[in-house]
Amino acid sequence: MEPSDLHLQDRDPPDLSEIIELALIKNPACSVSRIRDAYHYVAHAFAGRRREDGTPYLKHLTEVAKKLTELGVDDNSIIAGLLHDTLEDIKGLTKEDLAKEFGADVAEIVEGVTKITTMGPEDEAGEHILMVDTIRNIKALHKLLLAVAGDIRVLLVKLADRLHNMRTISGKKDKNRQRVIANETLLVFAPLAARLGIWQIKSELEDLSFEVLHPEESKRIESLINQTEAERKKELSAIILETKEALESAGVKYFQVTGRPKHKFSIFNKMASQHLKFEEIYDLIAIRIIVDTNAACYHAFGIVHGLYAPIQGFFFDYIAKPKPNGYQSIHTKVTGPHNRTLEVQIRTQEMHQNAEFGNAAHWTYKEGSEGSKEAKSMRSLGNQLAAASAENTEIGDFMRAVLTDLFTDQVFVFTPRHDIIELPAGSTVIDFAFKVHTELALKLSGVKVDGKLVPFNTVLQNAQRVELITRSDAEPTHEWVKYAKSSHALSRIRTYLRKKEREVWAKIGRASIVRELESFHLDPQVNLSPSKLDPIIKSYDGVKTADDLYARVAEGLISIQSVVQRIRALYSVSKEPTPIPVSVGFDGTMEIGGKENKSIEFKRAKCCLPIPGDEVVGYITRGNGIRVHRRICPSAQALLAAEPERFFATTWQPSDAVYGVSLRIRCINRSGLLADITTAIAAKKTNISNVKLRAGGDAVVDITLTVDVKDATHANDIIAKLSGFASVISAYRVFSSISTVA
Ligand code: MN
Repeated sequence: MEPSDLHLQDRDPPDLSEIIELALIKNPACSVSRIRDAYHYVAHAFAGRRREDGTPYLKHLTEVAKKLTELGVDDNSIIAGLLHDTLEDIKGLTKEDLAKEFGADVAEIVEGVTKITTMGPEDEAGEHILMVDTIRNIKALHKLLLAVAGDIRVLLVKLADRLHNMRTISGKKDKNRQRVIANETLLVFAPLAARLGIWQIKSELEDLSFEVLHPEESKRIESLINQTEAERKKELSAIILETKEALESAGVKYFQVTGRPKHKFSIFNKMASQHLKFEEIYDLIAIRIIVDTNAACYHAFGIVHGLYAPIQGFFFDYIAKPKPNGYQSIHTKVTGPHNRTLEVQIRTQEMHQNAEFGNAAHWTYKEGSEGSKEAKSMRSLGNQLAAASAENTEIGDFMRAVLTDLFTDQVFVFTPRHDIIELPAGSTVIDFAFKVHTELALKLSGVKVDGKLVPFNTVLQNAQRVELITRSDAEPTHEWVKYAKSSHALSRIRTYLRKKEREVWAKIGRASIVRELESFHLDPQVNLSPSKLDPIIKSYDGVKTADDLYARVAEGLISIQSVVQRIRALYSVSKEPTPIPVSVGFDGTMEIGGKENKSIEFKRAKCCLPIPGDEVVGYITRGNGIRVHRRICPSAQALLAAEPERFFATTWQPSDAVYGVSLRIRCINRSGLLADITTAIAAKKTNISNVKLRAGGDAVVDITLTVDVKDATHANDIIAKLSGFASVISAYRVFSSISTVA
């Protein structure tokens, strides 16, 4: 401090000396010089600045500090009250600057107030609105405020700030803004004051908001009060005088016997909610007696009941049994002069102080749950603040540590509609999405936090505004499993992925069956129609839907051949070419192959590559010997239509000869797969003459290979062996070598 500051002490401006006087009454050990420093700091920084109503900005700051001294808070809170607008309003000023000048504790409180003041979305005028009518969960908002504040004293400063802003609200020219602020005050800050037990601030905030929000009702009630005021005052002063005399003659020491003010908003509320007339509420005369000890309370109570007849059932002893928020008083109703009902409250000075200004020692965060962890922490917080204020010690770290403990488990964020969502700390935007709306979350394509696009693994912070962007074709990916922290989100994502995977399997399975059907010239559309497929589905144990069946085929749980066989068994006629009606050739039925017929030359038709064991027909070419086709071969059918006389029926006996056939194997790609397949085929005593690999999507690979077989049984044997592999989705004989080219 500069030496010249010391001389200012005698010439302190009135507002400053008022603050210092009040602070000294509450706490004789308070640090006057630090308060004075803070005053001069803002007096300089805000010199010449005026509020919208033309009053000096400094006045606002000193009024806030005055209110805080009334509440009996510690020095740092009073100093923070003077400085509460500096971080927001002084260009270039940082928290560190404040800490250097006034200590880290003060800087923390001012920063907390600034955070709360700038919380919530901005309106068109660029001002922040914490609250709109759509908010549903005030308790969650209070938790959010506590979490963001990080220190109870931040909220006390904020309440004092709001109180002065409401007292001067008429200075705002924009009526609509007046209403917005009043609404926010009524919905958020008055209940917050009540939560902290500061009834005086609560009532005043309510009345001030009421005047702005319901000017007509407010004026009506005020004029009703005024009309009856003169008579009431006369009556009241007679009662007060009578009561005082009775107390004095009984030797009860009292400090005050006063009429009790009634708040406009509470009268309005009672009229509206209990359908009472103004007279029914206001005609009650209420007095309050303030004495010095608990014993004196009961003594005074006895005297009042001796003076006026008590009304049965209206005696409450909140001294012996305080209300959960710590409120203490004796309440009784008696019949006063002229048969008027008289309400009487009796309490000590300390109880009165606590009721009006809040007793830090009685802060309970959760109403009616005194034993809760939160309530206990809040109470010990209050005790510490009260003690710190009396002993003038610093308690910043402790104040913050407790609130930090209380709220480290949770994080509170806004939806675009200003609802508050409570999530476990560490939650990501993905968790938020699933908490808010599972169906939307499954279509999530992007997330904005405070208006900016963020990655899905972004961890949420208190008071952020989170907006979900969806797209109809968006869907969860495996990455999401890493981003989600909550079990709810995780289970929804996993369920979705499993279902999705099943759909992929089903697609693969269906494609395999379609191909197999086509190789038999069966129309897949017809044969896989629901009505046709239904009996097939039912023929398998535990298979419920078509996708079920397809997926199992793809997974190798059901062989593709078995499905197609069952289809063929049921609907063998559907699109299979009609068997070739073999006309008898020039020498009747002929048999090819076998020992006796070796001399007859024939060739296997390339279009269908028949082997012994297939149903075959012979076709006599022009100059190229006999060509053998499978009976179901389309080329054979076309030839038959043109020249039936060249066909003859034939059977084909196995011999020592081997014939190449093409097999196609669809499988899940894995290392060593091809080696396993070739080994298995070799074990069936056959050669592989040609192998083609073609990668499909989804880690699937198609293998086409040509193997030498003796007959159809041999080929089926190999197919059965291959179908047995876990990674084989389907294995079948390709109908023709020509089609494999495609
Ligand atoms: Mn302010």
